[in-house]
Amino acid sequence: MKRTAFILGSGLLLLVAFLNSVSGQLQRFWDASGCFQQAQWERLLSTFEGKEWILYIIATILVPALLFWSFNGLLLVADTARKPNFISRYRIQVGQNEPVDTMKLRQSMRTILFNQCMISVPMVIFLYPIIKVRGDPYRRELPTFHWFLLELAIFTLINEVLFYYSHRLLHHPTLYKKIHKKHHEWTAPIGVISFYTHPIEHVASNMLPVVLGPILMGSHLSSIAVWFSLALICATVSHCGYHLPFLPSPEFHDYHHLRFNQCYGVLGVLDHLHGTDTMFKQTKAYERHRFLLGFTPLSESIPDPPKKMD
Ligand SMILES: [Zn+2]
Ligand SMILES: [Zn+2]
Repeated sequence: MKRTAFILGSGLLLLVAFLNSVSGQLQRFWDASGCFQQAQWERLLSTFEGKEWILYIIATILVPALLFWSFNGLLLVADTARKPNFISRYRIQVGQNEPVDTMKLRQSMRTILFNQCMISVPMVIFLYPIIKVRGDPYRRELPTFHWFLLELAIFTLINEVLFYYSHRLLHHPTLYKKIHKKHHEWTAPIGVISFYTHPIEHVASNMLPVVLGPILMGSHLSSIAVWFSLALICATVSHCGYHLPFLPSPEFHDYHHLRFNQCYGVLGVLDHLHGTDTMFKQTKAYERHRFLLGFTPLSESIPDPPKKMD
């Protein structure tokens, strides 16, 4: 426990130091655009004066959902129509979902929409009074750039801890059979499958780890909107099945869907601590688990060893 706290604490410090060191440029950009953003925010506040809850719905539900479905719309075109042609070069599990089983996708879509409309939306609305009590999300002053980065780092760590342990619990045989098996029906996941879960899992593993950070920090609405959007995009990337350039690597969670008993977390810090990534570390997927900074697919630059012939 002490070791975990120590490593997570050091992780947070390192992350903050790193963000601090790379943030010089961004800070300048932020300062230059800061007045503009502040003016826009104040305009929004006066437009929705007395009806701030509309701003809350836009920032916490509409904007993240729009980004989620725009990104997933593009991925679904790639999965169903296999367009554009080059995208298949970036597939992690070659030959899987090429094209995707539309029947299976249609059935999954019902659960995905149910989770989004009947669980996520009511839950975010239910949290409204709690968020307001924790700190005024509509305060006139937008957060400073460094405070915003610090909040993002804290949200990420809270998400890692809660997601890792709730996810490992869901792999307990009893809970797995009743709850988590559904999510694992997709051994080769696609973007929207991030929401294809039992409703209990959707609350415990998808929603709570994400919403808890802003509640604890009493965050500004702008920070909440960015964090919710980022969380949805990252969940989509980690399930999308393609290791695309200039996006975070999805190899870690893709390997979890393939092997079931490895890689439970998001960042991989707790998997490293608990030794739940030892098999993964011996694979080519681990070598490919990095940010792709060019257009050559990692499956081509780090190919699988040739299959042994019997
Ligand atoms: Zn998953
Ligand atoms: Zn799992």
